[in-house]
Amino acid sequence: MDNFIEMDFEEADEKFHFMVNNYDENASFNGLMFETYGDEVEYVKSMPQNRIWMYGDGDDGGTYIWSGWGFVNRLGYFISEVPCPENTTIQIKISEPWHYCENCDAEFEDPDNKIRDMFDDAGLEKCPACATMEELKQLEGVK
Ligand SMILES: [Zn+2]
Repeated sequence: MDNFIEMDFEEADEKFHFMVNNYDENASFNGLMFETYGDEVEYVKSMPQNRIWMYGDGDDGGTYIWSGWGFVNRLGYFISEVPCPENTTIQIKISEPWHYCENCDAEFEDPDNKIRDMFDDAGLEKCPACATMEELKQLEGVK
């Protein structure tokens, strides 16, 4: 089993030193993020695996940076000067999960996916904003 470590962006930057993106002085994350296309991604790919980090959407709706190359749900890349230790996955949380309601198009922050799970458990494809009083009462019974 790989070691799994969570840290915040500042902590990771202090430890691994993310490199400045010289292709684009207006790059995201204060000039540190590399894009997923063109010369920028080619440059990322030319780096050793253990210095590549992928920024992307997590399964829970939040966004994260993970150590290592990846391409599923990618939003960008980072390159660190210091390699990530072997057999270790580092996860950096960038933003909290958001809940998107298919029914009314509402979007709101849902840090622990509590709201999503509550409605899912009840089999309702709705959110607190568009659920009826009866449905909300039913949800309170589910909890
Ligand atoms: Zn809704």
